[in-house]
Amino acid sequence: MIKIKELYKSFGEAQILKGINLEVAKGETTVIIGPSGSGKTTLLRCINLLEIPTSGFVSVASKALAFKEGVQHTQKDIIELRKNTGMVFQGFHLFPHMTVLENVMEGQITVLKRSKDAAREMALSLLNKVGLKEKSLAYPYQLSGGQQQRVAIARAMAMEPAVLLFDEPTSALDPELAVEVLKVMKDLAQEGMTMVVVTHKMSFARDVANKVVFVDGGLILEEGSPEQIFSNPKHERTKLFLSMLD
Ligand code: ATP
Repeated sequence: MIKIKELYKSFGEAQILKGINLEVAKGETTVIIGPSGSGKTTLLRCINLLEIPTSGFVSVASKALAFKEGVQHTQKDIIELRKNTGMVFQGFHLFPHMTVLENVMEGQITVLKRSKDAAREMALSLLNKVGLKEKSLAYPYQLSGGQQQRVAIARAMAMEPAVLLFDEPTSALDPELAVEVLKVMKDLAQEGMTMVVVTHKMSFARDVANKVVFVDGGLILEEGSPEQIFSNPKHERTKLFLSMLD
């Protein structure tokens, strides 16, 4: 479903990603872990082209693009690939002037050109799924952070993307609010959604991931099942990182 080959990304002189190769199979949840500043968010943002890779190959579902210095893709190509992805950010990013329902309807109407009725029906069904149907007419500021993040997940799902990308979705939340978001994510994973999740929540990685990827210094140092990575890490860096967690 996702294929990344020899992905490099620099910001100015600073090379952040140094040759990433990653495959994510349909229906699988991949969790990306690693120290602060190792490039996890940059990797995620290169998958949906919020950051344009310096070089390498990115494919998501039916759309593939190769990058190299001096070659620019059209906005149409970039948007076509991005449409295959949905992104959930650390800071929720809901539209503050719209109700919960309008937040989940908006992209469906403007981007997918769905009718208002169809968009409302889809939005209500997804809000029900994340346990927030009764908050449909509330505004984001009237919700807890955990509730806002669940709306953001419903909004991403409403676009029916091939994959969902999560960038530290619970790190702005108190632990008890994080739990309700992680529960929704676990349900999605169990229903067969293809997901890539950057998180520091190792319990989620252990419990839900099909594959755990350890990134350090812009490279994937090792990857494997949660069992392999947590119980039998091969690399000293992975061992050190895991030993420093709570
Ligand atoms: P954290 O766990 O702290 O979120 P991370 O592993 O997600 O870290 P990134 O956010 O990908 O790391 O950042 C990797 C490096 O890239 C950092 O040194 C960061 O300062 C740099 N960086 C990220 N985005 C930009 C940008 N737009 N311009 C310049 N430097 C950037």
